[in-house]
Amino acid sequence: MDITCVSFKADPSNRNANATLQRFPRALAVTSANGNGLAAAGPDFEAERREMVVRQIRRRGIRSSRVIEAMETVPRHLFVPPEHAAAAYTDSPLPIGEGQTISQPYIVAAMAEALSLDGRERVLEVGAGSGYQAAVLSRLAQEVIAVETQPALGAAARERLTRLAFTNVWIEEGDGSLGWPAGAPYGAILVAAGAPAIPQPLVDQLAEGGRLVIPVGPADHQELLRITKKEGKLKTESLFPCRFVPLIGLHGWRPGATGSTPS
Ligand code: SAH
Repeated sequence: MDITCVSFKADPSNRNANATLQRFPRALAVTSANGNGLAAAGPDFEAERREMVVRQIRRRGIRSSRVIEAMETVPRHLFVPPEHAAAAYTDSPLPIGEGQTISQPYIVAAMAEALSLDGRERVLEVGAGSGYQAAVLSRLAQEVIAVETQPALGAAARERLTRLAFTNVWIEEGDGSLGWPAGAPYGAILVAAGAPAIPQPLVDQLAEGGRLVIPVGPADHQELLRITKKEGKLKTESLFPCRFVPLIGLHGWRPGATGSTPS
């Protein structure tokens, strides 16, 4: 399965999806010298990123100026395999290897906004994947611990974040359905994979006043939930329907489950 999350939210801007590239013809975008010293046309990723933020993020209702700034800043094209870089700013998830995907930009922004970060939190992300969502969160919080179960993805994300100088993100390898007790409690927790139910360790590792954003439901469609811990009690809000790859682990789905066997 290679769908990380497809938002089902109505998209009033989609009628014009191709306008992005038409407005920024590649031949005029950015030039760089090739081996012959001649100018070669290349994609203007910064212009594509600005367009992505206008069409996919602002127009769909993301209001937080901090989230918008983070989406404008983090170079998504450097978080996808080179063969997908040209599609990095399109309105969709993309393969990142190991059968996993980087989430659609809108989903990354909507989940970040739902966490209501003020910059002082320690944040746990479960499902680091490419490290892109963690990089966005790192601009909104004090520090981010992102757990990834697939060693190859975790190693690549760690190397990438170091190279790009995201100095307040730590990638850890393990089953994030158990949380990451060493860093608890967390002011915010984001789960980037679909869970059959809310993993209790994540609730336990949430600080007083903390927010947990997690897709919960059957393997083929989930509801994005926000759980807030106030005076020890939990408030649960349903944000919107979505579809993520499965959270595989002790408090997620069993490895190899086709979608009907919560562990
Ligand atoms: N946030 C990522 C995309 C997440 S895709 C990004 O920005 O690129 C979901 C990821 O969750 C996959 O990489 C998958 O390997 C990972 N995953 C699944 N179950 C997990 C678990 N129990 N603990 C940690 N990571 C898990």
